Amino acid sequence: MTDLDEKLIAALERLAHVLRTLLWEEGVRSRLSPIQIQTLLYLASHSEELCRVGQLAQEFNLTPATMSDAVDALQEKGLAVRQPWPEDGRVVTLRLTAQGRRQAEKLSRWAEALQEQLAHFPAEEKARALGFLLKLIEALYRAGIITVARICLTCRFFRPYAHPDSPAPHHCALLDKPLAEGDLRVDCPEHEYEVHPLP
Ligand code: SF4
Repeated sequence: MTDLDEKLIAALERLAHVLRTLLWEEGVRSRLSPIQIQTLLYLASHSEELCRVGQLAQEFNLTPATMSDAVDALQEKGLAVRQPWPEDGRVVTLRLTAQGRRQAEKLSRWAEALQEQLAHFPAEEKARALGFLLKLIEALYRAGIITVARICLTCRFFRPYAHPDSPAPHHCALLDKPLAEGDLRVDCPEHEYEVHPLP
């Protein structure tokens, strides 16, 4: 490992620590664990198909047992309910209750401290950082270290550098529109894996 790689890992670890701390502080305020908070925020922003209970463990890289405990706790607190998926009664999905939706709305402010700092950086610098982070996520996905990566770089509709001389060099064949580095998506609802998702 090079010195630069070591420094990047140390910087990512610092940032991961900041994110954990912000989530933890929000958890103390709302009496929820960080994973319960992440689950509520996830449920509030994803389609029913992606809220299958089996899918959630994959999303958060947790064991099914740990995920199940978090789901039980949310259900006991009246914030979410398990229900059969309309397209296949054997599959269970998780849905927010009205109380859960209100809680998710409050929780969505957990990253405000980070947003305030990001606002001071130039857009081009942030777009370059996004491009690098997405490449890192893609590499982790292809190495089998993470199993979920609904990013442009793993999508069958992504056409990298289809417009090489343009400020928006990439192209989405589904939306039929050019994509600049800063337009690349991190969690796209229209994403389809270019091959099959990893097991
Ligand atoms: S469908 Fe979404 S993830 Fe796929 S290339 Fe288009 S914008 Fe990116």
